[in-house]
Amino acid sequence: MDNVFFTEPGNIYGNQLELEGQEARHAAKVLRFNIGDQLFASDGKGNRYRTKVTSISKNSVLADIEETTSHPESRVKKVLAFGAIKKRDRLEFAVEKAVELDAWEICVFDADHSERSRVNEERLRSIVLSAFKQSKRYWLPKVVYKDSLDEVFKDYQGFNPVMAHMEVEENRADKLNEGNNLLLVGPEGGFSDREIELAKENGTAFISLGKYRLRAETAVTAILSQFLFTR
Ligand code: SAH
Repeated sequence: MDNVFFTEPGNIYGNQLELEGQEARHAAKVLRFNIGDQLFASDGKGNRYRTKVTSISKNSVLADIEETTSHPESRVKKVLAFGAIKKRDRLEFAVEKAVELDAWEICVFDADHSERSRVNEERLRSIVLSAFKQSKRYWLPKVVYKDSLDEVFKDYQGFNPVMAHMEVEENRADKLNEGNNLLLVGPEGGFSDREIELAKENGTAFISLGKYRLRAETAVTAILSQFLFTR
């Protein structure tokens, strides 16, 4: 099962599914699937299908579902929220790694010290999708955008906030809740004093990621790595 294709939940009809667009082209043209071949597809909502291809054209691949494996949503959800990184390749790195490292959802927000630059949402969607397939995850993470940390706290009320902060020295891996967690990382310029205050008002736990100053995208991978086995 080297390749897992993505199919929208809406493209599953009873015991048949369809790959469309890019996914169909990839199967038909690049990987040259044939009728009768075994193909794996995932709907990003917890289900993976072992199928047999029944028809193939460059825009559509139809397949019969022979076996479905389902994974429930994880109980410990980790939303990774980080201050927008200006450099596109670094931002994309952070998003790709967040998918591999089990972020449930990825939130990019305009932090006080974020240097604004336009985020190419289409590109990020395709990076998330390919990381999702590559890492063989069952649930496809969403990427959401917020205008400020204030908005992040407002929209993730009820989540347990944990912030990576240089000024603290402790890091205990028991900071996550069984339930919804919000992991926060600052932009290249760090969090502003105002944002740190805001975090305190919202009951945030602060954790260290070691004694050295990490780049924002490294901090994203480091914070998620702390909690890989927290379920
Ligand atoms: N210039 C900033 C550094 C920002 S690093 C400053 O001096 O504050 C970007 C973000 O990564 C930080 O806001 C923090 O969330 C995280 N980070 C980097 N290194 C860290 C460390 N050693 N411990 C905890 N968080 C860290």
